[in-house]
Amino acid sequence: MASPSRALTLKCSPCIVFSTKTLMDSKPTTLHRPFSCSISGSPPREACTSGVHEGAITLQEWQGWGTASPVPAMVTKIVEDLKALEKDIDTQMSFGGSRGKLQGDFKVQEDRKHRKTYQALGDSEKKLQFFSARQIACRLLGSRGYLCQKCWLPSEEDCMCSRVTQCTLWNRMRFWLYMHPKDFLRQNNTGKLLWQVFGTEVATLCLFGISEHEEIMWNALKLAGKSNTWCLYPNKNGVLKSVEDVFGQEPSPYLVGTDTKFDYAKTDEDRTLNFILIDGTWNNSVAIFSRLKDQAASVWGDGDFPCISLATGTSAMHKLRPQPSWDRTCTAGAAIGLLSELQLLPEFSSVGLDKQAEAVEDTLVVLLEALTNRRLRMGRSISRKFISSVECPYLPLIV
Ligand SMILES: [Zn+2]
Repeated sequence: MASPSRALTLKCSPCIVFSTKTLMDSKPTTLHRPFSCSISGSPPREACTSGVHEGAITLQEWQGWGTASPVPAMVTKIVEDLKALEKDIDTQMSFGGSRGKLQGDFKVQEDRKHRKTYQALGDSEKKLQFFSARQIACRLLGSRGYLCQKCWLPSEEDCMCSRVTQCTLWNRMRFWLYMHPKDFLRQNNTGKLLWQVFGTEVATLCLFGISEHEEIMWNALKLAGKSNTWCLYPNKNGVLKSVEDVFGQEPSPYLVGTDTKFDYAKTDEDRTLNFILIDGTWNNSVAIFSRLKDQAASVWGDGDFPCISLATGTSAMHKLRPQPSWDRTCTAGAAIGLLSELQLLPEFSSVGLDKQAEAVEDTLVVLLEALTNRRLRMGRSISRKFISSVECPYLPLIV
């Protein structure tokens, strides 16, 4: 009982001093000149993309990666600038590592350029947006033609799409994957599995610092209201609430007005239960959660974001997978935990959440197999380091 919160305290305290500002300041990134496309509101997409720049990110390409949003204006701008630099210095850009990072001569030139632009940006919000957009632009260009757009694995060798178990999520639930840009298009990201299984309408990607995405998420949260919104996060400063604390009352206030047999009749959009999963490493999750609180303060006048901590679900999962497997330490694992814990509550027991948890779990197993096979094929070991590479904020809850 006490161990999860103790683990949290230990994990949290060194990280809690992180703020969006310090994170961004420590990771310089920039743009050459002021953005020509407005980044607030909804700029007419055509105005930003109709320049027909060679290699521009089209709407179709962008949405193919798992989002229904327009192409973020700032990402478009940065891709244009990268392409322009390529011409100016007559050096092709190339990508190293997992193809998300520039390398070689181009990197040297581009580094100089973007750092200058970053410094010139006045406020921290613009810096954060630039940092995120640049990360995403590089990942998009580096992964183009290499990764399968649906499963984010190398398409020729490792695509797992044919093995995904698709499933319909209970129609009162919606997941938001609030993802750090460094996790975007990462092969071992597990948040992506949720929209592979349930679809992007109910498991929606929201990239941290991308205003188009955050606007879509917040519009939905405003509609649902604070009382129907939770973040799965070990919020050290708030009251830790379990799934049972929040949903365990009978009759459940969250199901009032619903047929007791939970028929799948139409329900109002504003009665959807929204669950935000923070998808990033532990350190990055602190910045993501901090932004969520800031935005909550400006929208609801209260920065105390409702949080849920998983507890029993982890032991339920432990039963499923007795080995100390790393699938319990990831974002998809947290979703499985939530679904499993809700399933244990009598009021929620008849909407098939167990089947939905199982679909995610089966797909997670497929991803783990694909990643493992890839490493073995490349002659790398399945090391402890590999396993911990999926570290995420949910880890301390399940040790
Ligand atoms: Zn695929």
